[in-house]
Amino acid sequence: MNPFSFERAETIAGAVSAIAKNDRARFIAGGTNLLDLMKENVSRPARLIDITRLPLARIEETGDGGLRIGALVTNADTAYDERILQRYPLLSKAILAGASAQLRNMATTGGNLLQRTRCYYFYDTATPCNKRAPGSGCGAIGGFNRIHAILGTSDKCIATHPSDMCVALAALGATVRVTGPDGEHTLPFSGFHRLPGDTPELDTNLRPDELITAVDLPAKGFATHHAYLKIRDRQSYAFALVSVAAALELDGGHIREARLALGGVAHMPWRDTAAEAMLSGKPATVENFRAVAEAIVREAKGFGHNTFKIELAKRAVVRALEQATGMEQPS
Ligand SMILES: Cc1cc2nc3c(=O)[nH]c(=O)nc-3n(C[C@H](O)[C@H](O)[C@H](O)COP(=O)(O)OP(=O)(O)OC[C@H]3O[C@@H](n4cnc5c(N)ncnc54)[C@H](O)[C@@H]3O)c2cc1C
Ligand code: SF4
Repeated sequence: MNPFSFERAETIAGAVSAIAKNDRARFIAGGTNLLDLMKENVSRPARLIDITRLPLARIEETGDGGLRIGALVTNADTAYDERILQRYPLLSKAILAGASAQLRNMATTGGNLLQRTRCYYFYDTATPCNKRAPGSGCGAIGGFNRIHAILGTSDKCIATHPSDMCVALAALGATVRVTGPDGEHTLPFSGFHRLPGDTPELDTNLRPDELITAVDLPAKGFATHHAYLKIRDRQSYAFALVSVAAALELDGGHIREARLALGGVAHMPWRDTAAEAMLSGKPATVENFRAVAEAIVREAKGFGHNTFKIELAKRAVVRALEQATGMEQPS
């Protein structure tokens, strides 16, 4: 049993100053990930700062035609919000592909971004894991690694980021709003999560004393042509083996703009802007989709049990693009 103290933050400034006072303090929002990690002894905070009373549970219009989703808006409230359904249906679909209704009622925007990997070894304190215990080794490299990464891996860690919502946010080009001791600043979504490199213990570029306050969606929501395809072992209540968020702007049969982000394949949502550019101005054909899929996995590396993901990712990219263009209906 790890003893910890608890306090409830009433203001954003109060939450930021409380976290700065104790380097073993952690914010708690919906608790759907942090409490599991505490029960497994993976996370051992000395103090929990409950942020659920902060005024961050609203979805608001931004000045540039986008939407600001407060860090405490639940995944369910985001997915069923009329403005999200009309203008960002890709985001709604990605959220609803994840977890269960009960979890989505508790899980928050900020917590979803910061949920930790589902690597089995990370959760098992009897095994080595560089993310949980830096320098101890990696149980997954050379171990059972069916759910692990094929892109952006390092010799220290091959974990994946498990979120569905974040894959859609990456494709949409969202921005994360953060408040810390130095005031407020923003991080582009592509710069929020990290690859493992030599420091797999760090999942993101958020500092430990910073609070996520919101996620901003740009005006362009790709509402007409989009798809979220999630391939998993069960049709519900399972994390993605591979997922693809595809968003297209079409001009007749040609692609004016393409966005593609993959989940389940890397330590962060994997958006490949060079591959997206290959589709720009091209006819929306299966041949072109196959070419872009090949390009995305060109540097992919399998570790044995997860090598099937390379072919799976290629097929998923093609199918998601077919669904986004309407060539195939989502199943
Ligand atoms: C059985 C199960 C199945 C699941 N399946 C899926 C799935 O298929 N797809 C999917 O995407 N997700 C899935 N999830 C994950 C779920 O979506 C996350 O657990 C949830 O989004 C976390 O949000 P939370 O508010 O509960 O975070 P918490 O558990 O409260 O916090 C998580 C982390 O975020 C930090 N934190 C929270 N809010 C902030 C903030 N505003 N600023 C700074 N730090 C903050 C906390 O300190 C903690 O470190 C599943 C979870 C479970 C338990
Ligand atoms: S893949 Fe990463 S999280 Fe999993 S055991 Fe290796 S170091 Fe730990």
